[in-house]
Amino acid sequence: MGLAGRDEGEKGFEMIVPKYHIKKNDLVMVINGKEKGKSGRVLKVHPGKEKVLIEKINFVKRHARPHGKQRQGGILEKEAPLHISNVMLLCEKCNKPIRIGHRVLEDGKKARFCRKCGELLDK
Ligand SMILES: [Zn+2]
Repeated sequence: MGLAGRDEGEKGFEMIVPKYHIKKNDLVMVINGKEKGKSGRVLKVHPGKEKVLIEKINFVKRHARPHGKQRQGGILEKEAPLHISNVMLLCEKCNKPIRIGHRVLEDGKKARFCRKCGELLDK
């Protein structure tokens, strides 16, 4: 199954809006753009901007000007945030981007789980 690079293929997406299900430290895969197919841990979620920063993904080179005594000039490489719609949660067990479900655990906590293999993503 190829991952469609565009949104048109996602009409059967039920009520799941991926952007609400991604949290810091989640393992995600990029499904769009130049980093498509790469995966990494979420370092930061910017809920207001709907962006996520992912470890070692989407490096951008920045020309840093010498800035007082803080640092020297040169080229810095840094992760840049991606739009949250370009990433999907990755199940470590399936090793694939997945659709998730929600389940209420015995202690009343809500947990997300992989709808493919049933693996809980919130432990
Ligand atoms: Zn799974």
